[in-house]
Amino acid sequence: MRIAFIGLGNMGGGMAANLVKAGHDVQAFDLSQAALDTAKDNGCTPFTSIKDTCEGAEAVVTMLPNGEIVRQVYVDDVIGSAPKGAVLIDCSTIDVATARQVEAIAVGAGYEMVDAPVSGGIAAANGGTLTFMVGGTESAFGRAKLILEAMGKAVIHAGDAGNGQAAKICNNMLLAIHMIGTCEAFRMAEKLGLDPQTFYDISSVSSGQNWSMTSYCPVPGVGPQSPSDNDYQGGFATALMLKDLRLAMEAAETADAATPMGARAASIYEDFNGAGNGGLDFSAIIKML
Ligand code: NAD
Repeated sequence: MRIAFIGLGNMGGGMAANLVKAGHDVQAFDLSQAALDTAKDNGCTPFTSIKDTCEGAEAVVTMLPNGEIVRQVYVDDVIGSAPKGAVLIDCSTIDVATARQVEAIAVGAGYEMVDAPVSGGIAAANGGTLTFMVGGTESAFGRAKLILEAMGKAVIHAGDAGNGQAAKICNNMLLAIHMIGTCEAFRMAEKLGLDPQTFYDISSVSSGQNWSMTSYCPVPGVGPQSPSDNDYQGGFATALMLKDLRLAMEAAETADAATPMGARAASIYEDFNGAGNGGLDFSAIIKML
């Protein structure tokens, strides 16, 4: 297929390269020349405008920083320049309301569109092992799935437009909560005289077991290899976790959902990020406790 790919940063660069590997003809655009040069080295055809990138495309994939940029890219450029039959796929993490608005505008202009945010970081983007949570009609999902499968290990339909974003922020809010809870438990166990490894051996097979403990342990040297073993470098940056928590709090307010633990987690990550730790993996929150 001929696919236009817009936003070739940390995530989009590897995703576009995987579309090329799967045999697609990828027309690429980014505001950064360095990102475009790398995409060219990976087999994409670079373009100098979104309009030209979308010419003749059967699908458009975007991987952009935030909702304002996503709205601007689609409303100002993609809608109108991509052929009417093209399926539009936004993989960025953005707010639910903007995702729904942009999808409504696209549908009104005669396109099919999905929101398809991802779980998995840069390594999963490069390795083609992302999980996509997709919001949109059955028909749009079916078309997007064929393309997303080249970039991920799982593609799950979450329901109507915006539901992919809803799944993503609810998941990441839960992740932040159980990461902080896990850190608290390890710190308290230590203060009560328990060795962290011993606490892990007990809790990982007891009712406190959770993903932050058994797959991503915040204590160095305990559990499988994780960013804590590398001084909290790499992994999922605190700044990105905070971005997702802010989106979650915004959505909770709009939906009138009670999220006392999510709100507390957001405020703890605000403090940690504000203290200059935005580049550290989010499990480094244990340093603050
Ligand atoms: P990034 O900043 O590395 O990449 C974004 C790219 O978009 C940049 O190359 C930038 O030049 C380009 N861009 C910005 N405005 C543009 C425009 N108007 N037209 C064309 N290109 C434009 O960010 P990233 O880490 O790749 O993240 C992208 C999205 O993926 C974000 O929404 C983020 O929340 C989400 N995400 C990131 C991770 C991660 O681990 N990095 C994990 C899951 C989801």
